Amino acid sequence: MTTAQSIPLQTLRTTCAYCGVGCGIKAEVNVVGRAVSVRGDDEHPSNQGRLCSKGSSLGETLAVESRLLHPEVHGQTTDWNSALQAVAEGFKQVIERYGPDAVAFYGSGQLLTEDYYIANKLMKGFIGSANIDTNSRLCMSSAVAGHKRAFGSDTVAACYDDLDHAELIVLVGSNTAWCHPIVYQRIRAAKDANPQMKVVVIDPRRTATCDIADLHLAIDSGADVALYNGLLAYLAEHDALDQRFVENYTEGFEACLDAARQDGQNLQQVAARCGLPLADVRTFFAWFTGHDKVMTLYSQGVKQSSAGVDKVNAILNCHLATGRIGREGAGPLSLTGQPNAMGGREVGGLANQLAAHMSLENPEHRDRVGRFWGSTVIPSKPGLPAVDLFDAVADGRIKAVWIMATNPVVSLPNADKVKEALKGCDLVVVSDCVAHSDTLDLAHIKLPAQGWSEKDGMVTNSERYITRQRGLLAPAGQAKPDWWILCEVAKRMGHAEAFTYAHHSEIFVEHAALSGFENDEQHGLRDFDISGLSKLTREAYEAFVPTQWPINKTYPKGRKRFFGDGRFFTPSQKAQFIVVKHRLPVNLPNDQYPLVLNTGRLRDQWHTMTRSALAPRLNQHRPEPFVEIHPGDAQRFQLVNGALAHLRSVWGQMFARVRVTDSQRPGMVFVPMHWSEQYARKGRMGALVNPVVDPVSGQPESKHTPVSVRPLKAAWYGFALSRSDTDWNSDYCVKVNGEQHVRYEMAGTSERSWEALPEQIDSQQRWQWQLYQDESSRVVRLAAFDGDKLCLVVCAAPDHALALLPDRQWMGQLFAKGSLNRDERQQLLSGVAPSGQSTGATVCACFNVGETTIKKVIQEKGLRDYAAVGAACKAGTNCGSCIPEIKQILAIEAGKAKNHVC
Ligand code: SF4
Repeated sequence: MTTAQSIPLQTLRTTCAYCGVGCGIKAEVNVVGRAVSVRGDDEHPSNQGRLCSKGSSLGETLAVESRLLHPEVHGQTTDWNSALQAVAEGFKQVIERYGPDAVAFYGSGQLLTEDYYIANKLMKGFIGSANIDTNSRLCMSSAVAGHKRAFGSDTVAACYDDLDHAELIVLVGSNTAWCHPIVYQRIRAAKDANPQMKVVVIDPRRTATCDIADLHLAIDSGADVALYNGLLAYLAEHDALDQRFVENYTEGFEACLDAARQDGQNLQQVAARCGLPLADVRTFFAWFTGHDKVMTLYSQGVKQSSAGVDKVNAILNCHLATGRIGREGAGPLSLTGQPNAMGGREVGGLANQLAAHMSLENPEHRDRVGRFWGSTVIPSKPGLPAVDLFDAVADGRIKAVWIMATNPVVSLPNADKVKEALKGCDLVVVSDCVAHSDTLDLAHIKLPAQGWSEKDGMVTNSERYITRQRGLLAPAGQAKPDWWILCEVAKRMGHAEAFTYAHHSEIFVEHAALSGFENDEQHGLRDFDISGLSKLTREAYEAFVPTQWPINKTYPKGRKRFFGDGRFFTPSQKAQFIVVKHRLPVNLPNDQYPLVLNTGRLRDQWHTMTRSALAPRLNQHRPEPFVEIHPGDAQRFQLVNGALAHLRSVWGQMFARVRVTDSQRPGMVFVPMHWSEQYARKGRMGALVNPVVDPVSGQPESKHTPVSVRPLKAAWYGFALSRSDTDWNSDYCVKVNGEQHVRYEMAGTSERSWEALPEQIDSQQRWQWQLYQDESSRVVRLAAFDGDKLCLVVCAAPDHALALLPDRQWMGQLFAKGSLNRDERQQLLSGVAPSGQSTGATVCACFNVGETTIKKVIQEKGLRDYAAVGAACKAGTNCGSCIPEIKQILAIEAGKAKNHVC
């Protein structure tokens, strides 16, 4: 008999499913046991063997139980043919009756290039509408538009290797340490190797990234254009321009400089407009001027803005003016959010793109792609970008929408409106790999797509590396690749000839051929050219090693940097300086909504948590939705650290745990983007966020929404730990997946009778219950056992204070035990962890090391630096994302020790 143990492990190279850093993975696969263990691929040029906490946990997210396993139509499980027929018929009927613009696709940077290519080809080439947009609109569309305005093409000029050569690295609107952890690790390593290298962080928040910053500019929200215009004026004034580069390779400099000078006539004005100390602005400008090799890495803080494109161009203007582009160690680099957002850009997956970096508005491009695809219906006008697309669903212009691998009910701004729009839509099709999401639960037709460990195709990362993502396991249930689902629907819509592929490598080869089709001096050169892969055999496709595009006759092995030759993709082949002017965000704080909401990612979660929350160790660092607020604002609005808050905006509301911290600017609050209704009742930050978008890119202003934050007056706080999912029906309820248990953080605005609980949830009286209740303190602890096995713990108190509510980590660990002895039962009911068993809140997710453990080793061994802490308890020794937090604990403990000596 074959057993899982007797099957030899297979090692396969693939890529991480999460962010745009695009780390290579070496996966050890036990096919029979459906087990995958991962480590960083030391041969992948982007991560060189490193992985962050999210990537390292991929093997823990593969449980079949969480998967959508069969197609469903109107709540009934069905076979693939019926489901595909229902989708095709539904779309065809809407198109026949209302025209092609009455249907839409909404995709995702999670799709592989082959999936994306087919979705785009079907919608633009054969349905005849450009209504295909993607969640990448929320992530990097301002970078795309900024690049095209300046370079004539959506080209990422630099690469990660440049980090090793830079003398100054400027991180703008990027908590790189948490959102692109391996890029951050590479910067840290570069700085360790070259201590002279400077790092500047420009961000209203003091984030973990500031741990390596020589200078942190806590800029006013939305003032980046003013800062960079001030810098351009300063560079001109200090004779720091590259005149040769400006004269030979660019256009529009004088007008741009005039506008920049008007924005900030002197340093004082710039500093005042940006809300920054004059000395800090002067230092930054002097460093930018004084270092030849400057890199600027920019992310969502720049792009998710009503002036996002202008911010991108303000940065590019300064790089062009100094000729710091296309050279080793010098250049702008947009950090992309999703694993294949770049692949989506290549195939034209946004509503205003065509394919292979060609443009819908350009008749020659439409003609070229039409001839290549055999299509006569390519639309001449852009489709609806994400926010407009769901507005059109809401007002009935779009009557059928197909959502792929994304969760817009959580992630889009004004998310309650999106939810209502989908509820009212005639036909909602969702293809996803999970059984439940806030969006999937609203679908009329559910299509089971393959997940990360099963999908097979290509992805492109932020530095243009194309890498194979390889299928590791057999599909769960009846899950199918997204490209296959799309092709089968296309065939049933009458387009069999254009959508018949024997293997997905044929799709990639077609995509590669299109990139090189009439891409020459005669027809005009395009940056995206992978024609060198247009004859790839299936074997060569399987064996493909990471390569940076372009891949063509000139660059058969790829190209690290663009524009070092001064040749751009504009009609004049010169880069364009873009006139940009500082402007305030659209919605400003007011008496009713006096604070500015900033949103962003956490270290250990990914997007709407549909996959990352399946890995228990990723849920412990920040287990609940929270709002970070400055101590002064907390006092002003009577908010207490650890208590709950009720946030409101014009668009919606949410509940969150209060974290008081001086890392926030006064007047601003921060909320993470991740929680959905699935995991947190009233925890969706998207419900709050204003739907204002950048006028050029359509990217929403997710970093600037006026809100109010008030205490949520709870009559009780508590938590439950349970072996299985339970509906607690409390006003505040957050679900946290743990090892062999589920934790619920709860609070109620009215008193709750705990004596009735055993009857309510154990009416069959299967369990033995223990109850501790103190009438005077109103502290309650209940535990339920099946024999000696712990089944449930509930703790409640009138206050959130830790003294009243015991250590969750310790209690959670008791679920891993088969049985509890008498002492352990008593300890459980007393709520006091035995000495040494309380680990405290998780700091290091890779090795599950808690704050209490770290403090203990620091105190007991007199440790002074993070490396020594790592040697003592392993914290921070894998991905290193928790090093800033370990350093903070070290600083606090050092302060305590000093006070003690005094
Ligand atoms: Fe994955 Fe982390 Fe690498 Fe991003 S940085 S690709 S999340 S391992």
